[in-house]
Amino acid sequence: MRRKLAAGNWKMNGLMQTLAEVETLHTAHPAPRCDIVVCPPATLMCKMAEICAPMAIEVGAQDCHENEAGAHTGDISAPMIADTGARYVILGHSERRAAYGESDALVCAKTRAVWAAGLTAIVCIGETSKERDAGNTLDIVGRQLAGSVPDGACGSNTVIAYEPVWAIGTGKTPSLAKIAEVHNFIRSRLTNRCAADGDAIRILYGGSMTPRNVEKITAVTNVDGGLVGGASLKAADFGAIVATLGK
Ligand code: PEP
Repeated sequence: MRRKLAAGNWKMNGLMQTLAEVETLHTAHPAPRCDIVVCPPATLMCKMAEICAPMAIEVGAQDCHENEAGAHTGDISAPMIADTGARYVILGHSERRAAYGESDALVCAKTRAVWAAGLTAIVCIGETSKERDAGNTLDIVGRQLAGSVPDGACGSNTVIAYEPVWAIGTGKTPSLAKIAEVHNFIRSRLTNRCAADGDAIRILYGGSMTPRNVEKITAVTNVDGGLVGGASLKAADFGAIVATLGK
């Protein structure tokens, strides 16, 4: 039985005062019936981890470098993230794949670094609208999954987020049938490769998830929660998603 996960990606949003949102979230949902992780910008991670330590809210980073330390100006490493008290790291988000040319091989190296630091990787995969229109969704998702996740993935070190690129921040979502097709495909790839461990890995849906559509989307087989961007910024919206996932 996979416990559902609500993962919030704040992206490049949030100042110190925004940390009040996690306190509001905790007050409304002190004992949530799903797991919660909030991934703020790096500037807020330390403070958020401190605030969330007594709460049922984990903290995550939005990226990390594949090396442990060294001459990499502007980057942060997985051991540094672990040092803040954060437990998760989003990797291979489509915005990073597009803006920084992150390849599957690089995401794979970053995933290894995250595991070595004792953290859980949330590995993002998903097709562009052009790839979808060409009928290549499963090819793309299969290739990204194989290339971005090293051998040794299991339920405690890895979460997969299926995020169609065209659904992120657009208000558009795939049909429930399409979400089911892709999530079932990812599940079968995971179990073929990792046997029982593959069955324990949570597969999140991401892309314009809101309090309005979360119930229908997460009722789909093999959807184990959501990776939520815009709707994770306000405690009221994210809390509504948390409440639905805990049903
Ligand atoms: C995301 O960027 O991971 C995401 C899912 O964004 P949004 O929910 O805003 O579409």
